[in-house]
Amino acid sequence: MIRKVLIANRGEIALRVVRACRELGMKTLAVYSEVDEQSLHVQLADEAICIGPAPAIQSYLKTDRILSAAELGDADAIHPGYGFLAENPTFAEQCDACNIKFIGPSSNTIRKMGDKVLARQVAIRANVPTVPGSEDTILDEKMGLKIANAIGYPVIIKAAAGGGGKGMRIAHSTVAFSKEFRTAQMEAEKAFNNGAVYVEKYIEEPHHIEFQILGDRYGHIVHLGERDCSLQRKYQKLIEEAPATFLNDALRAKMSKAAVKLAKACEYEGAGTLEFLVDKHGNFYFIEMNARIQVEHTVTEEAMGVDLVKWQLRIANGEHLTLEQKNIRCRRHAIECRINAEDSEKNFVPCPGNINLYYAPGGYGVRVDSHVYGGYDIPPYYDSMIGKLIVSADTREEAIERMHRALNEYIIRGIKTTIPLCKKIMQDPSFRTGNVTTKYVETFFNRTVEPNSETIKIHE
Ligand code: ADP
Repeated sequence: MIRKVLIANRGEIALRVVRACRELGMKTLAVYSEVDEQSLHVQLADEAICIGPAPAIQSYLKTDRILSAAELGDADAIHPGYGFLAENPTFAEQCDACNIKFIGPSSNTIRKMGDKVLARQVAIRANVPTVPGSEDTILDEKMGLKIANAIGYPVIIKAAAGGGGKGMRIAHSTVAFSKEFRTAQMEAEKAFNNGAVYVEKYIEEPHHIEFQILGDRYGHIVHLGERDCSLQRKYQKLIEEAPATFLNDALRAKMSKAAVKLAKACEYEGAGTLEFLVDKHGNFYFIEMNARIQVEHTVTEEAMGVDLVKWQLRIANGEHLTLEQKNIRCRRHAIECRINAEDSEKNFVPCPGNINLYYAPGGYGVRVDSHVYGGYDIPPYYDSMIGKLIVSADTREEAIERMHRALNEYIIRGIKTTIPLCKKIMQDPSFRTGNVTTKYVETFFNRTVEPNSETIKIHE
């Protein structure tokens, strides 16, 4: 039985895990960097230990300090959240060696599915369609060019260890290929300390559709439907929805079958996501697996009525996953807006700083997952996401109205955020049709959508 969970993360996901642990009667131990002392996750955990200076490399990525904190605080499990050490197979192994339960899949599964090239190979062996491309990492430019010419342009060069949209370059011709190839290698080396890249056909204006999976250690695996995460900026998601409006039942059934097949092929334990691209003809292609909880897990929770983080903890605790596929059904439409400290008018440049006034929305069908509050200083060292606003309703139309209403209530002063952009998107007729592809944000800035409502006034 897990008694105490160390949460090897920060921000809203650390808070999310604290809350789930508390409801299950598990104690929590937060770890934090010197600049995160005032974060809500530190204040709400049962105990907290400082693990080093602000840069993640000296704190949240320092495996020895985190394991020492677990020993010092007598934690018997570690929840890695997302990012940082969540998909680091060596860390999962180190936890095993210290007799601490790593809350996630086995290190073998992480090793296989965390590397995009290896994950593609698993998919190919399982007969799940992948984007046409190289079967292995590309050793040099000459080899890459040969493959790109065979696939046909445009192609996308991607980092094998990729994540967060980094290390991806599109080449539209043989001439452009060499330059983009070298840039992708350099970006991959810099971001992941691993310059390995591979090449795929670039799918024009696809939908990004992903399936949520839960599996227990006894081999029982279910899917919890899909999320549409096509609305992205810089290859990173901004607004997510469940279910995906444009999927018909036949395609949904085919894709969910492929997702479960892949999760079975890697003996998946815990919560995970299989990501696919879908082209305009309804062809779908596996692109990668996220062997961890994701930022946007919340829309699945709200649409399906299932607490995914609690299931992660219960599965890690050795419990049987009692959800049966036939009883899992989509109950509501859910939308999430990522609230980022960014200036969307200046190419989404991060805008850390002090929040001098904070007022979060509420009411029926509204959920806010955030670690910030009035007076909070957003440090410049980490991801710019400072919260998530999630709404659910009986229909997509009602969910959009609710989101728009909640965004109008959401007040964050002192910094720039993505709230104004999200408000405009909620009013955009093109978004409202539901046929959003990964090109949406790019084209959005070429059109103008004037907001027709004001932020609610509150007493200051
Ligand atoms: P990361 O792990 O960095 O998030 P992904 O492989 O998940 O990278 O891809 C992120 C996004 O990049 C996708 O949602 C999509 O918008 C775009 N993308 C990735 N591969 C392709 C492709 N082959 N064709 C078109 N777009 C792609």
